[in-house]
Amino acid sequence: MEYFLAIIGGGPAGYTAAEKASKAGKQVILFEQNALGGTCLNVGCIPTKTLLYSAKQYYNATHADKYGVKAENVSFDYAKIAQRKQKVVRKLVAGIKAKLNNEFCTVINGAASVVSRTDDKVVIACGEEQYTAENLLICTGSNNFVPPIPGVKDNPCVWDSTLALDTKELPQSIVIVGGGVIGMEFATLYHELGVPVTVIEAMPTILPNLDQEVVAILREKYEKSGVKILTDTKVLSLEGNLVKTSNGDYEADKVLISVGRRANLQGLEALTDLEFERGIKVDDFMKTNLANVYAAGDVTGKIMLAHVASRQAEVAVGRMLKQIPVQRIAYNAIPSVVYTNPEIASVGITEDVMDCEIRRLPMTFSGRFVAENEGETGLCKMLIDKKSQSVLGVHMIGNPCSEFVAAASFAVRMGYTVAEFQQVVFPHPTVSEILKEIL
Ligand code: NAD
Repeated sequence: MEYFLAIIGGGPAGYTAAEKASKAGKQVILFEQNALGGTCLNVGCIPTKTLLYSAKQYYNATHADKYGVKAENVSFDYAKIAQRKQKVVRKLVAGIKAKLNNEFCTVINGAASVVSRTDDKVVIACGEEQYTAENLLICTGSNNFVPPIPGVKDNPCVWDSTLALDTKELPQSIVIVGGGVIGMEFATLYHELGVPVTVIEAMPTILPNLDQEVVAILREKYEKSGVKILTDTKVLSLEGNLVKTSNGDYEADKVLISVGRRANLQGLEALTDLEFERGIKVDDFMKTNLANVYAAGDVTGKIMLAHVASRQAEVAVGRMLKQIPVQRIAYNAIPSVVYTNPEIASVGITEDVMDCEIRRLPMTFSGRFVAENEGETGLCKMLIDKKSQSVLGVHMIGNPCSEFVAAASFAVRMGYTVAEFQQVVFPHPTVSEILKEIL
């Protein structure tokens, strides 16, 4: 059989594309060498959030007295926490399997590689078999980047995020190299479970891509509660569990390296004319420079977020199906969340990139926030175009801002002006009302 679409990689980009194309009645074949769900579901977003939820339960129990609740001798069983994480992952992977279980979709478990390509046909090998398709969608994702720091490679004290998620035991102490999103989420996990944490970041600030006023609030809270954060610090080398830096030497049971991820190009060697730009170069419709070859997700090196990957996949399939209206991605309105405690959520431009009106409001202007966040202030910041009065960016710190940043994304995506956003009714009492209060 010749398929309409062959997809390499079954993460959020791959499975979304398979679902969309098969729903449209097109024959699809998807290759995945590990479990369906990709990094996000198996060794990324979902396992991290599951572990973080347990850590938050423990942390909240040990800090319950500020809510008038006495909880004595609170303890946790990390092996059980890790076991539950596996259960959650298994359940969600089964859900994806079920979604793809239809007469138009074939899922092959194995490592696929491109054999040959013409403008109307792509041949893919997997195991002993070869498969042909009209279109190819590359969704091969990304891998943890291993920096060329002496002593990192093959060091048994070194973890990447995958290893850290896999372990059934907590480290005694940890040095985290890279204070980006992964670094700060793991810092949260270990700190809340009582593990001494040191974060080493090369840039002058942790989370350098986020609004720095919001980041400063997080940093102050973490440092006050005992997380050691070193910025402007270069790691020079590792000697076993000793991390030598431009700012002194630090020893820990384990060293977690979280300095970014890189596009995974395995299996694509035959596509010798494919163009690259950080990852595989794509146009607005996720098409590469090769007719009938598309790419979506981390492999494009654009924004490495699962929700971006799935939207890119929708756009790619929309283009293959020549759907009207033409689908595009609103890159200016992509929400992002860092699952620290408190959470950080943002969408749109940051203060540094445009001259605009900036409004700020502590989260305590929301009654629900005050009721549920004893001792916290939080912040909501809105960036508004001076001329048009449209909302261009929103940056927040305070729980549970991850749950309502989508409302801000909607406003940015639709180009709402302050006056238009003011007409939206928010339920009371919710923390989301902060978006109304600030207008
Ligand atoms: P990142 O780019 O967010 O952060 C890496 C950090 O490491 C940067 O701050 C960088 O300055 C620092 N760094 C680089 N080299 C260094 C060195 N030698 N010494 C010290 N610091 C160094 O990358 P990440 O945290 O590894 O995450 C990878 C990708 O996964 C990102 O694109 C991220 O957005 C995504 N992710 C998203 C979420 C989420 O949405 N909640 C969670 C985890 C990961």
